[in-house]
Amino acid sequence: MSILLEKARQLLSGRELCDHCLGRFFSALGSGLRNRERGRALRVVLHMTDRAIALASNGCGLCRGAFAHVPEWAERALQAVEGLEFQTYLMGTRVPFEIEALEQALQKEYDLRGEPFKQEFNREVGRLFGARLSERGRLVHVDFREPQIVLVMDLQQAKLTVQINSLFVYGRYRKLVRTIPQTRWPCRACGGRGCEECAFTGKRYAESVEELISPPLLRETRGSGTAFHGAGREDIDARMLGRGRPFVLEIKEPKIRTLDLERLQREINEQAAGKVEVSPLKLVSGSVVERLKHCEAEKIYEARVRFSAPVSPDRLREAFAVLEQTPIQQRTPRRVSHRRADLVRTRRVLAISGELVNPTEARIRVHGEGGLYIKELISGDEGRTRPSLSELVGVPAEVVELDVLEVLGDFLD
Ligand SMILES: [Zn+2]
Ligand SMILES: [Zn+2]
Repeated sequence: MSILLEKARQLLSGRELCDHCLGRFFSALGSGLRNRERGRALRVVLHMTDRAIALASNGCGLCRGAFAHVPEWAERALQAVEGLEFQTYLMGTRVPFEIEALEQALQKEYDLRGEPFKQEFNREVGRLFGARLSERGRLVHVDFREPQIVLVMDLQQAKLTVQINSLFVYGRYRKLVRTIPQTRWPCRACGGRGCEECAFTGKRYAESVEELISPPLLRETRGSGTAFHGAGREDIDARMLGRGRPFVLEIKEPKIRTLDLERLQREINEQAAGKVEVSPLKLVSGSVVERLKHCEAEKIYEARVRFSAPVSPDRLREAFAVLEQTPIQQRTPRRVSHRRADLVRTRRVLAISGELVNPTEARIRVHGEGGLYIKELISGDEGRTRPSLSELVGVPAEVVELDVLEVLGDFLD
């Protein structure tokens, strides 16, 4: 202890330090104490043996009196969050370089490992901020991992900014028509600015799944915008049936976070009736978005297939057997090669079955690994997918209608 006291005496010799800053160098001592109390205690003890150590500091050469302004910062923070609904927050401080540099230099010189200025400052302002809110009946708490809002105090600029983190709504959608894309497509002619070709909408398709789902949620949360994250996507001309495809709608900068999701689900389904349907919605963590994006879920499809010449039931059955036993080599399909790298991938057909409706038409169900291109599995894509149904029955074949019946996998429902 006497060594620590000696270090404290030296820190105070020829230097003004406030109780916060002095105590912070010794933050490992005495759990449950605040730095201010540690600093004060050390100062009192030193004062009793050395009159040169004053009982109270006259300013602070380290934080430059920043702690005296804690109430002002808390007040500013309260004003900044007015009208914002949140339960969790994080305080952040942009610390002037000189404060950090001097603090580190002193820690090194006296071989002391106290907590950083920033940490104590965040805590002190946060403590007051939380207390004031709780006086008004609002309970909030600090969340280091996924705070709903982040308050950043810039000490140099004397400026406080609020960052409102996104709200994430999970659900599944069913798409009942073959004419709309999952997300908004900008017009190809004008790039979204609006032109004659797109009737000045800036869009290639009048509607999308995203645009049918997001407006009520955006309105209720009073957010600034949305982003739609699907667990993959179906072709525009394919329906999405069964339990639907998992998605997360990200709402940017929401002012409101408590939502009547049942009512919103009803509203979406009424307004999009006949086109899109959503399953029960729920709020989730932002980490779900990454999970959705990186999962290549197995899927079950139903395809209506047309052959350019009659095919026998036996031939079809034999082809199914080969497809189930052979890994499928798929070179990136021509129809997506303008936006995807040209490479060959191997995917499996886990199960395939079906029957002829007439000699040149069949209904086929395929359970495939994630990433299997169904239209090409049927047509062969001019030899880019091998083997293909067309190759095996020896007759050109194409998908005339495609439905996704299930997106399988471990999702949140
Ligand atoms: Zn200080
Ligand atoms: Zn246009």
